Formats: sequence, structure tokens, C-alpha cells
Amino acid sequence: MPKNTTGLFEEVCQHARRTAVMASINELLGWDERTQLPSAGAEHRADQSTLLAGLIHQRWIDEKFGGQIEELSASLSEEKDADAAVVVRRLKRQRDKKVKLPRTLVEELARTAVLGQQAWQEARRNDDFPAFQPLLERTVELKREQAEALGYPQCPYDALLDEFEPEELTANVGPVLEKLREELVPLVTSIQQSGRQPDCSVLHRKFPVEAQDRFAREAAAAIGFDFSRGRLDVTTHPFCCGLGPNDCRITTRFYEDFFNAAFFGVLHEAGHGLYEQGLPVEQYGLPSGEFVSLGIHESQSRLWENLVGRSREFWTYCYPRAQEKFPAALGDVSPDDFFFAISEVRPSLIRVEADEATYNLHILIRFELERALLDGDLQAADLPGAWNEKYQQYLGITPPNDREGVLQDVHWSAGLIGYFPTYSLGNLYAAQFFAQAEAELGNLAESFAEGDFRPLLDWLREKIHRHGQRYTASELVERVTGRGLSAAPLVEHLRTKMGPLYGL
Ligand code: ZN
Repeated sequence: MPKNTTGLFEEVCQHARRTAVMASINELLGWDERTQLPSAGAEHRADQSTLLAGLIHQRWIDEKFGGQIEELSASLSEEKDADAAVVVRRLKRQRDKKVKLPRTLVEELARTAVLGQQAWQEARRNDDFPAFQPLLERTVELKREQAEALGYPQCPYDALLDEFEPEELTANVGPVLEKLREELVPLVTSIQQSGRQPDCSVLHRKFPVEAQDRFAREAAAAIGFDFSRGRLDVTTHPFCCGLGPNDCRITTRFYEDFFNAAFFGVLHEAGHGLYEQGLPVEQYGLPSGEFVSLGIHESQSRLWENLVGRSREFWTYCYPRAQEKFPAALGDVSPDDFFFAISEVRPSLIRVEADEATYNLHILIRFELERALLDGDLQAADLPGAWNEKYQQYLGITPPNDREGVLQDVHWSAGLIGYFPTYSLGNLYAAQFFAQAEAELGNLAESFAEGDFRPLLDWLREKIHRHGQRYTASELVERVTGRGLSAAPLVEHLRTKMGPLYGL
């Protein structure tokens, strides 16, 4: 880089880093809100967060910053693949999107999200979809406006998907999810029809919370979560957030009468945490130090939760420890019976409780419905009916009411349209990455059985974590696995695992 360009680049990085520090303060407020805040403090917290969000937005749209980015883009146009050029390109992309949205629209979206969530909560409580419908209609209208303001390569949904999965296209994701559905529906049906079914009541015995807490912490540490650079706390709706280069917060919830929720929840969030802890510390605050997309983030959590944590070999290592921690609940349960129970596949109504196979069908339903809403092919008033029809079609069950149907998720009420597919992208990428890791590292199962997760973690660090946003999600998966997004590895994983269990 020429000398003046180097100086300019440093200035831009400095600005971006300070903005990131400010954003991390807001993240900390968010973490506190969801784990510690007394309910009466919510209003003042909203004032604090809104003020900071405004200041952060100002820093992004700052004209001097914008001018510097433009200048750098021009002078780095010859060296597209240089690290600095990638950083500038990603910053420019993020900034352009923020500049394109008129302030009135941003405020209206924020206001509608608050009102929408209130209306949704009330509607869900009373099982009263019509009470939520006007807010949903308004949200869809605003999201259309947002898509038009942002612009899109092919269809309006692209613009909304891009918020969570940058540079991904509906035309790329749609057919892969469609393929997944074609494979999964018959697989789930044959599992349902199998005469062999697990006894899941063993997972609903008494599991003292204190022992669960210790056991989950040991497992998170065993897979590599660094508790000197992170914490585990209790919350209602578990999440993971990176507050800084050496401060990653994960959360969970405990049920004394259900083993899976906390344990697999912690593995999931610790998987997110391992990604955060694997991002290059020295790049903090720059795109080169940030996660690629929600789909890639979710691939890391799902990989540890399902591909590792629900593998037989993981439990070869872990089950004797589990029996030691929960002698009353698991003392008389054989490892095979336990493994079958945690691997259960059963169509259910609620997405967040779904197993690793049916989960993606829940996502597909939402993906199809939200696209139809956005395109105007489906009216909000007809949504509950369309929802129930698809549940019958894909999962063979019909929700008895809207509370357990169309009103179960917060996303649409909060304006999060285009978010759902990232969950399935996470599952697909996880299976792709895992299959590739096995191809390169040999039989990972053997190391799991010995409680050694280091080879896999090192591989993920090397192939994925350390690159930050060097590559887009599509580029990364292509680069790491030699192919684009594909349903095949996930389908293969589920067939290989469920076949012997269910005697298919
Ligand atoms: Zn997650």
C-alpha cells in the first residue's frame, strides 16, 4: 500500500474499532438486561440502549468516515484480495446499507417492532391471532419498504436475508431447503412407522440443578470453552454474546425434570462461544475479527451440539460421568437406552423443542410462509390456515391452537423476516464442515470416545474461526469443503445415524 493509503487505512480502522467498543457496551447492557436486570429497571435500560444505538449509528454514517472509505476503495481497487481491501470492502458494504435506509423508516421499524412484540405477547397469551394481525400487516409493509430502500440482486427477500446472511441469495438457499424437505419428510415418516422407539421418560426423571450445572460446565470446558475468557449464566431464553476479544458470555436455563434443555443448550451456546473465542483477537473491531454470518455462527453451535454432543462416542466418554453425577436418575439406564433417548426423532409442534431431523421442517415452513407474505401471495389473515396446512403436510400434525402454531415465535413480531433460514443454513453447514473434518482428520469418533476434542477444534479454528469475515459464507463453505451449500451431508448424517437406531 502507498504510504498515504496506509495512514488513511489506519484512521478508518481506528474509527471502526471505537465504534465496535461502543457497540460492545450496548451488548453488555443487553446481556445484563437478560440475566440480571430487575424488571423495574427496564425503562431506564431502554433509554440507555437507545442513546447508545443512536451514537453508534451516527459513527457509522459519519461523512468523513464515509469519504475515507470511498477514497480507500478507489486506491485499493487493484488489489482486491489484499487484507486491507477486504476490510474496506466489508466496511463499505455495511455502511452503505445503513446510509440507504431513511431515518424515518428506521424509526418506524423500531417502533413497530416494540408494538409488534407487545401485541404478539398479548395475542399469544389469549390465543388471539386477529389481535396481532394488523401489526403483522404493518411489519410486512415496512419490510417491503426496507427491501426497496436497500435494493436487491434478484428478489425483495434477498435484501432481508442479507441482513443476517450477507450476500446470500434466495435462489441459492431455496432449492437446497427444498431438496432437504424431499429427503426429510419420508425419512421422518419411516422413523414414525418404526416399531422400535426410544423410552424418553428417563430424560424426565429428577436431575438436581446443581449437578446439572456442574456437569454442563465440565462438558463445555472439555470441548474447549475457555472459562477464563467467558462465563455461563442463567436466563429465560438462552443466547451467546461476545462482549469483547476475551469476554464471551453464554447462558442457559435449567429444568429439574428434563435433562436435555440445559445440557444440550450449553453445548450449543458453547459452540457459539468457541467461534467467538476463536476469532483473531488482534483484529477485534474490524470485519477481519468478526463472525461471517448467522448461518456460519449457527453451524458452529449445531456442530458441537448435534454432530459431536449427540454422537455415540461422545457418550462413550461422557456417560460414565453422567451416571456418577445423576446416580438416582441414570444408575439403571444402559448407555444404549440413554443414547437412543437423546437421539429421538418425533414430529412436534414447537420449533425450539424439535429434534435434529424435524427441526429443519419447522424452518422450511416459516421460510416458505414469510416469502409468500412478502411477495403478497399470502395475506396475513390467511396465515394461520396456511401454517396449519403446512404442518399437516410436512410433519403430519396440526396445531390445536394458534398459540402452539403460528404465534409461537417472536421473530415476525420483532420485524425479523429473513432470519429463520439461517437456522437451517447452520445445520447444513455444520454437517458439511463436519464431514470435511472427518475426511481430513480421519475417524474423529475415536478421539471423542477418549474425551479429546482438540483435533476438531483446531481444525475449525484453522479453517473457519481465524478468517473472520475474510470470506462470505458461500466462499467459505466452498473453500473449506470444495463444494457449495448442499443438503447431502446433513441427509447422509441423519440416515447413517437414525437407520440403525430405528432399524430402517
Ligand atoms: Zn444458536
